[in-house]
Amino acid sequence: MNASASVNPSSDQTETLTDGFHVLVEALKANGLDTLYGVIGIPVTDVARIAQAKGIRYIGMRHEADAANAAAAHGYLTGAPGAFLTVSAPGFLNGLAPLREATENGFPCIQFGGSSDRATVDLQEGQYEGLDQRAYAVPFAKASYRIDRIEDIGLGVVRAIRAASSGRPGGVYVDLPDSLLSQTMDAQAAKETIFSALDPAPAMIPSEESVERALELLEQAKNPLIFLGKGAAYARADEEIADFIHKTGIPYQPMSMAKGLLPDDDPQCTASCRGLAMRTADVVLMIGARLNWMLGFGKGRHWNPDVKFIQIDIDPVEIENARPIAAPIVGDIKSTMKLMVEGLAHHSIHASAEWQQLLDADTKKNDARFGSKTTEVTDPMNHYNALGAVKEVIDAHQDVIIVNEGANTLDDCRDIVAMYKPRQRLDCGTWGVMGIGTGYAIAAAVATGKSVVSIHGDSAFGFDGMEVETICRYKLPVTVMVFNNGGIYRGDFENLGTDGDPSPLTLDATAHYEKMMEAFGGKGYYATTPAEVKQYLSEAIESKAPALIHVQLSIHSGVESGHISDLNPQPIVGPLAGGHEMEDFNEKVVDGKLVQESPAASTN
Ligand code: ADP
Ligand code: MG
Repeated sequence: MNASASVNPSSDQTETLTDGFHVLVEALKANGLDTLYGVIGIPVTDVARIAQAKGIRYIGMRHEADAANAAAAHGYLTGAPGAFLTVSAPGFLNGLAPLREATENGFPCIQFGGSSDRATVDLQEGQYEGLDQRAYAVPFAKASYRIDRIEDIGLGVVRAIRAASSGRPGGVYVDLPDSLLSQTMDAQAAKETIFSALDPAPAMIPSEESVERALELLEQAKNPLIFLGKGAAYARADEEIADFIHKTGIPYQPMSMAKGLLPDDDPQCTASCRGLAMRTADVVLMIGARLNWMLGFGKGRHWNPDVKFIQIDIDPVEIENARPIAAPIVGDIKSTMKLMVEGLAHHSIHASAEWQQLLDADTKKNDARFGSKTTEVTDPMNHYNALGAVKEVIDAHQDVIIVNEGANTLDDCRDIVAMYKPRQRLDCGTWGVMGIGTGYAIAAAVATGKSVVSIHGDSAFGFDGMEVETICRYKLPVTVMVFNNGGIYRGDFENLGTDGDPSPLTLDATAHYEKMMEAFGGKGYYATTPAEVKQYLSEAIESKAPALIHVQLSIHSGVESGHISDLNPQPIVGPLAGGHEMEDFNEKVVDGKLVQESPAASTN
């Protein structure tokens, strides 16, 4: 190994030889990869050091899963792959689950995984952190490569970028054996092996016929509805989509990460009457949203039984994933929506006035009912009034990026906190993953320079809370909010046995999460009223500095499994059959601590 020659970044210009570390960094730079997230160690430590020396921003994180989530969010927010670096075997494996999640979400990102000596790994001789990593990555990644020769590094990086970016974006794995990094070659010859991917995410123009079929179907519709998903947000077709929606007057429904693609207060937004809109729409245009579990697979009791679908997707395999589609369009959303807008010149498309009135009336009714819940005063707070305070602050700070995870904290925030600009809401995504939040928040701050408010349930925060240290170390403008109701779903569940342990759902309702931020030099706040939430959040956002607001909720606030309790199987015998009644606690916040005055007795 001659890696020692490569450690001094200033010396390499004059040397005639170069090595794998330097060629990799140059290949990343040639392809515009200007940020690397990761956790370093053998054999990739010097990849990060040399990358930093050469002007790539390196963000060192505390767990590979968080680095992977950061890279995925970076990819979604910038439209080009985010990248992260992992060490061999255990570090590599920690990155794989989020690489899979990124692929499910359609976020472009690349995991660069250092790996141990090939010869001894392949013969299973018992190498340090020895694992055939590329093989393990195959089912987790959209594509999986290994670069074995220094002269192939340029090609390998381009292949990874194209695989991550093109078609439906996703997570790509690139294996970097230790022997690759220490290979050497003539520096001038190495330069000639580096090139940049040309148009890695090319436009994919749909057929004229498919667009015409869709427009004809919309022309016949009385109650047409549009669904916008995170694919539409990713496509950066903001103007084309807004143009089509406003010129036709068709009501639309934003999926959670498409909130803000058009401002949530747009009069055609049907967020408040989603159920009615789905039950009564006769033609539904899907723009970058999948007919997966989130939408009941496009069939069943949530939908008008006679509904017809138009489905625009860049991935031809997605069409008819769960039901017949009357008008499939395979193409990229930007090109497609441009043609759809042009097609309005010879198609008369609009929603019927009766339907519009029906939806408007339902919206008014629901907004009034919900609005009173967000302003009601309770002691302690619940999700609704705490988030009502957050909404007011975000209304006054519309440039802030929101990251959101949890069960009730997710569902209620999505419903209550309005978004006004595209790609400013990141959440649990297609799989409903917990533990994405701080990684996403870090990337949002790094990739955009904007202030970020990262809103977590106390359970969700437990997965990746250590990254508050990263937020402080890099002095990022991130305000973390932990909504503490003392448990998974909520904090009032009981141990059904006799050992006196906390219930499986119980976490610490009396914790002080803000102290985690204080431990690393950030600002901690403990909020017990909506007025305090409002004041502390405004202050924290305006400080543009690391902060954590512990939002103390009632342990009774929240419903089991949030809005997806129908996915949670129920026991049919025993104490949990037919639901589980909670005993009443008398709780309040006294001297900065949540106190329960009469804890419930065991149900047994
Ligand atoms: P949501 O969860 O918001 O409903 P999904 O992630 O389920 O959204 O769906 C996004 C869809 O958008 C995916 O099927 C993906 O293939 C598609 N998509 C992503 N980018 C584009 C694009 N540029 N053009 C067309 N379709 C896209
Ligand atoms: Mg909780």
